[in-house]
Amino acid sequence: MGDGGFTGSLADMADHWARVAPGRPATGNAGGRRLGFRALADRSAQVADALGDAAGPVAYLGRDSAVWAELMVGASRRGVPAVPLNWRLAPAELARVLEHARPSVVVSDAAFLPSLGLERESEETVVVLNGGLVFVGGYDAWLSGRPTTFERRPADPGATALLVYTSGTSGRPKAVQLTNGNIAANLASSAPWDVGPGSVVCVPTPLFHVSGTGWLFYCLGRGARSVFLTDASPEGVLRVLADVRATHMLSVPAVVQTLVQSPAVADADLSDLQTLIYGGSPMPPAVIREAAAALGCDLVQSYGMTEACGPITFLDADDHRRGGPRLASAGRAADGVEISVRDPATGADVPAGTTGEVWMRSALLSPGYLGDEGDGEADNARAFGPDGWFRTGDAGHLDDGGYLFLTDRVTDMIITGGENVYPVEVENVLADHPDVAEVAVVGAPHERWGETVVALVVARPGTAPAGPELIAFCRERLAHYKCPTRVDIVGELPRTPSGKVLKRRLREPSSAV
Ligand code: ATP
Ligand code: MG
Repeated sequence: MGDGGFTGSLADMADHWARVAPGRPATGNAGGRRLGFRALADRSAQVADALGDAAGPVAYLGRDSAVWAELMVGASRRGVPAVPLNWRLAPAELARVLEHARPSVVVSDAAFLPSLGLERESEETVVVLNGGLVFVGGYDAWLSGRPTTFERRPADPGATALLVYTSGTSGRPKAVQLTNGNIAANLASSAPWDVGPGSVVCVPTPLFHVSGTGWLFYCLGRGARSVFLTDASPEGVLRVLADVRATHMLSVPAVVQTLVQSPAVADADLSDLQTLIYGGSPMPPAVIREAAAALGCDLVQSYGMTEACGPITFLDADDHRRGGPRLASAGRAADGVEISVRDPATGADVPAGTTGEVWMRSALLSPGYLGDEGDGEADNARAFGPDGWFRTGDAGHLDDGGYLFLTDRVTDMIITGGENVYPVEVENVLADHPDVAEVAVVGAPHERWGETVVALVVARPGTAPAGPELIAFCRERLAHYKCPTRVDIVGELPRTPSGKVLKRRLREPSSAV
């Protein structure tokens, strides 16, 4: 662990740091219960005892990273998977997820009980057992009086430790099985940031997203403290960063953007902040430059996906300092990760500089989606190729130095009059316009050209950009066929909980497009 021996077993990590640094804070929400490493080891042993002979996964419907850490590590002691549930889902959607993941135990924050079709009876976190969802009682009462040690067998590297659902950006979310071996590979990765004992990492992404749960176990493995943010307002984030003396901050571009545009950033005390780590969706170079100036810390970009248990490429702090055209890239493959760009139709490798579909191969890669029949089987057959290669669904190209430039999802590419247009390229140009706060570019059906390029723009406060002016701005900088033929000024863009623009929703006929 701190000594380099990452077994990938969450229980091993907790036991290691409970011995080495028992009193050090492990995790907790900003302003919530703070859980130390010794307490985590003890409480997770109580969870393992309380699970009895549960053979299915342990699910958590909630926002408290201390509870989720106890459940994850408790499940690891028992040798059963843990699954974080999306608390934004409507009851019918959640019912389908439960039907699919088949947890033996569900622990829910009281606030989300109505989503399970249960009355909210107390302020406590409660435990609910599956098979009719029977209310059991308070979470603390469930653990109280149980032993704080638990006999277990050594962890199996191939066993599923976590089930994490993808964001559902391109369709229905898929349940990814992540093994102890995948977690070990994530912890051993060559990530270009210095997170270890003494680090305080702020995480704004929800626990049900791979970056939320991924950063929680990464910090556990490295003996660092994670602080989960539940208030994503710029003032709230800046206050927590100063209060906990954060050394690292993880963010998605949508949050970085609101943060650096906030007047509060000028007065914030960010003297301990070493590195801002961003990723999850493209961030225009204009915003990257603004963030570096406003925050005064190193910037690192990561590109990854649920199926890879986290990041697979990094654009490191030196790359950011050098600037130039590579600022528009997602950086280079991490050690032990192979990236290849292939023709989406034939699967043949394409040369550097040519856009195709991004494939990856690594020990980070999940063995597959849950379910060997129906949707699970079809999704596996589509994405998990031969010889351990995974088809990411992302479009991009490599330059001759191995830097990966992502140009969008393969399915988001616009074909207009036979020409391919990658929306990110157009978005990056529009983001350079001083009146543009946010932008999304999509294809809209067109009688003559098949599709036409349409931009949806959120104006910066106090400005009123006009569509024709923005189109003229693009015409000076882009080939004619790539320029939007229409710009709609909108109040906001529809996003997933992790801040990705839901382009499929923008393309729906009922939307403004
Ligand atoms: P679904 O698979 O259900 O459509 P999703 O792919 O958005 O959802 P995640 O696994 O959470 O679910 O996200 C991974 C995707 O996020 C990547 O495939 C890529 O499209 C995007 N992404 C991640 N990091 C970056 C980045 N640095 N730059 C651009 N895109 C990124
Ligand atoms: Mg995906």
